[in-house]
Amino acid sequence: MTERVTIIGGGLAGCEAAWQLARGGIGADLYEMRPVRGTEAHQTDRLGELVCSNSFRNATLETAVGLLKEEMRRLGSIVMQVADATRVPAGACLAVDRLHFADGLTRAVEALASVRIVREELTELPLGLTILATGPLTSPALSQALRTALGRTHLYFYDAIAPIVTVDSVDMGVAWKASRYGKGGEDYINCPLDREQYYRFVAEVGGAEKVATRDFERCIYFEGCMPIEEMARRGPDTLAFGPMRPVGLVNPRDGKRPYACVQLRQDDAEGRLFNLVGFQTKMTYAEQRRVFRMIPGLEQAEFVRLGSLHRNTFINSPA
Ligand SMILES: Cc1cc2nc3c(=O)[nH]c(=O)nc-3n(C[C@H](O)[C@H](O)[C@H](O)COP(=O)(O)OP(=O)(O)OC[C@H]3O[C@@H](n4cnc5c(N)ncnc54)[C@H](O)[C@@H]3O)c2cc1C
Repeated sequence: MTERVTIIGGGLAGCEAAWQLARGGIGADLYEMRPVRGTEAHQTDRLGELVCSNSFRNATLETAVGLLKEEMRRLGSIVMQVADATRVPAGACLAVDRLHFADGLTRAVEALASVRIVREELTELPLGLTILATGPLTSPALSQALRTALGRTHLYFYDAIAPIVTVDSVDMGVAWKASRYGKGGEDYINCPLDREQYYRFVAEVGGAEKVATRDFERCIYFEGCMPIEEMARRGPDTLAFGPMRPVGLVNPRDGKRPYACVQLRQDDAEGRLFNLVGFQTKMTYAEQRRVFRMIPGLEQAEFVRLGSLHRNTFINSPA
């Protein structure tokens, strides 16, 4: 095959596509619009930037997601090579230092002689072989072109981002380090809540001021990454069975399982930053600071990133 392939989008999918095409001896033009045009969630000009969680989920072969990653490794995946090289401690999960990961992926794709990286937004679907890898934050103009081509309205859902704090601001006199069920040593920081603290926290989450979504559309959430206030709205105990579940954790200070627990996962290689696992939110920034500082151990938390909510676009395509 001599025809070059156009790849639109330099995220995980676009980088992997460029890499695999290069391995097959096929040239590609990879269009990435950042930094010329940004998205609501990306913060850098790096290829393969992770906008929310730094975890690729479970890494063990007994799980479907672990098996998928191993299959990708055996297929020579660049995403997996870089993820393995930039791994940070995360118990049974594969999590990465997001900056090192994006740097590694950018360097790997830039080094491909057969791939030309073009920092430009494509607003129309090009003629010729094209891989559309613009992800959930496809630019509005290209989104409109897709809509015209497909002749139907877009599907959408809302996805959210969780906050990140500095490790130095966590009170380790209250929190402790451990992985759930002891799998993975002391990889996570755990902030325990007793029953009273938990229900007070849930009530504050429910009453906190939220950022409004576009008023003309219904807020449909991705069930796998729901804002904590939406979980709290579904019932006062939902969080205790979700991201605040205490199972597999014993507080070494009293030898008991806490009523609820907030886990913090390492976010950078240096171990300076930790994210609040599963704490996606659309509370206003001021409310996030106030409410999250109610969590024992986070009273003095210094936030380097706060949570936010974004509209994700997708199309109905054959699976
Ligand atoms: C708020 C939010 C939270 C998320 N949280 C998680 C999470 O916790 N865990 C998880 O697994 N996934 C999460 N996702 C989904 C996440 O985006 C994907 O897992 C992953 O990034 C998808 O990779 P991708 O390559 O398809 O898209 P992306 O990584 O988004 O890459 C697409 C690229 O295309 C570029 N682009 C867009 N339009 C154009 C254009 N017209 N021309 C040129 N370039 C363009 C963008 O700048 C971007 O770099 C979240 C998404 C959002 C928006």
